[in-house]
Amino acid sequence: MEKDAKFCPYCGKPLGKIFIEGKWRGFCESCNRVIYDNPVPVVAGVIIKKNEVLLVKRGIQPKKGYWALPAGFIDIYESAEEALIREIEEETSLKIKEYRFLSTINQKGMRYNSVLIIGFFIEKYEGEIIPGDDAVDAKFFNMEKLPDLAFSSHYQLIDFAKKLK
Ligand SMILES: [Zn+2]
Repeated sequence: MEKDAKFCPYCGKPLGKIFIEGKWRGFCESCNRVIYDNPVPVVAGVIIKKNEVLLVKRGIQPKKGYWALPAGFIDIYESAEEALIREIEEETSLKIKEYRFLSTINQKGMRYNSVLIIGFFIEKYEGEIIPGDDAVDAKFFNMEKLPDLAFSSHYQLIDFAKKLK
């Protein structure tokens, strides 16, 4: 598990291991503290128009050049809803007016052991699509003919959203 922390994030000393609550976890003897490897939360929005879903083309790594749902990490002290509205506006310039919780998916990430993807279904939005920030393009794709998506969780979220319609 190359992504496991080797040093204590609080005091910087090398971490040991402890078997607690059914799993091996990092342990700092100096702080007498278990270092939990909690999931890193990400929000993603599913915007559907008739039989099409809005995707953005990633301008940054990981998976640069792949299409994906508009998505991003939650910033410090931000709620998931605030992150959703901010990320979609940054990447597509659309303003989200109504949304509902869709589902969460927890999976292995490329940079983190565990990423919690919090999916929302966007029911109402305003504005014209203009790609920005980490997105180099943004457009609607037929849901039956999706391009290769950057993340498998995004196929799952699109499937969940289709069932709502
Ligand atoms: Zn420590």
